Amino acid sequence: MNRAYSRVGGRARHYQRISVTDSVTTSSTGAGEVGSVELESVTKRFGTMVAVDSLNLIVKPGEFLSLLGPSGCGKTTTLRMLAGFEQPDEGFIRISGQYVQGVPPYKRDVNTVFQQYALFPHMTVAENVAYGLRQKRTPKSEVAARVREALGMVKMTKLADRKPRQMSGGQQQRVAVARALVNRPSVLLLDEPLGALDRKLREEMQIELKLLQSQLGITFIFVTHDQEEAMSMSDRIAIMLDGHVEQLADPETVYEHPSSAFVAGFIGRNNFWKGISNGNGLVAEDGTVFVATRPEEHVSNGEGALAALRPESVQLRATAPETSTNVVAGQVVGVSHFGDSLQYVVRAGNRDLIVLCPRAGAIRLAPGDDAWCQWSPDDVYFFSARQADLVMADPAEAAH
Ligand code: ATP
Repeated sequence: MNRAYSRVGGRARHYQRISVTDSVTTSSTGAGEVGSVELESVTKRFGTMVAVDSLNLIVKPGEFLSLLGPSGCGKTTTLRMLAGFEQPDEGFIRISGQYVQGVPPYKRDVNTVFQQYALFPHMTVAENVAYGLRQKRTPKSEVAARVREALGMVKMTKLADRKPRQMSGGQQQRVAVARALVNRPSVLLLDEPLGALDRKLREEMQIELKLLQSQLGITFIFVTHDQEEAMSMSDRIAIMLDGHVEQLADPETVYEHPSSAFVAGFIGRNNFWKGISNGNGLVAEDGTVFVATRPEEHVSNGEGALAALRPESVQLRATAPETSTNVVAGQVVGVSHFGDSLQYVVRAGNRDLIVLCPRAGAIRLAPGDDAWCQWSPDDVYFFSARQADLVMADPAEAAH
């Protein structure tokens, strides 16, 4: 059976081994329970700038939830309000069932890990981790045991006597995580904690952090602007735009069923066409007709619309297919190798289509070759011009 460490019984003093199924909450949201986080109509302004705009969000106990979005969308401000470093102008926040209005950071059931590890350079690893407990005048024997426990969780026991300068960035970030975990919070807030690490180390740490979170059963609220990071680690992702949550769902849902053109442009990549819905699909501005299985789900006939198609949903052919439905003819203008996949850029008229083929069995074409792009009506999805207003000009641009 899948096992997890979880805090039980309110301000429990020990992590207790329980099963994941035991820890499943009785209500579907877990609101009000230890480890839950609730934001109700939370607004934060800086002068006239609305950084967070009437935000509603319920994070379940033991959940790994990422706040994902472009720069300036309000992720860090949201996290800082949960930590108690900023106060909302309107609305309410409950952590583990407690309203935290006016409650200082150190009295909340949360701890924060920042991108900059902010370790004390003159202290050893163990002293850094013990610092918070010592400030709270925790008995010496308890400090030692808890520091050992926290360092064990991040596999840093052997480096307990090192100074920060004697460690790699990844090791220092582990110490920063241990320093937060030593307080045994029900909720860990992580603000771009892997942002300063190189790509390989970042990927290793993603796996380690995810593993740690599922073992401990602590709620993680993880701020990132890296969609791959959010997709690979999270139970659910809150995709933020202009201070509100645009979509809140599990990674598969946000990828397969983006709720708006903005989300479709932000998560993964897409080919987009602007045009007018004709009831069966879309007539693009360049005259290309796109047939979709369920265009009416998003757009009514005659309405301005945006069609979106994932690069991996396009089949590339070296000869013209028998059908002309959902087919675009063009020429290869670019080929890129991504290890496990090949990416082609096919120029059709005055636009470029991105096509992604798994390397195994991929068709081999070179720049200058004729190519036909074909896709299934099931794979095209539509957004109304009204809904896509924000990104009609250039959805991919708007996402960055
Ligand atoms: P990034 O990914 O770049 O860190 P973010 O999504 O975390 O962005 P926030 O840091 O929450 O965004 O900022 C949201 C908005 O609030 C931004 O427009 C930012 O400039 C503004 N802002 C944040 N903190 C302050 C502050 N202390 N004073 C004034 N404006 C602020």
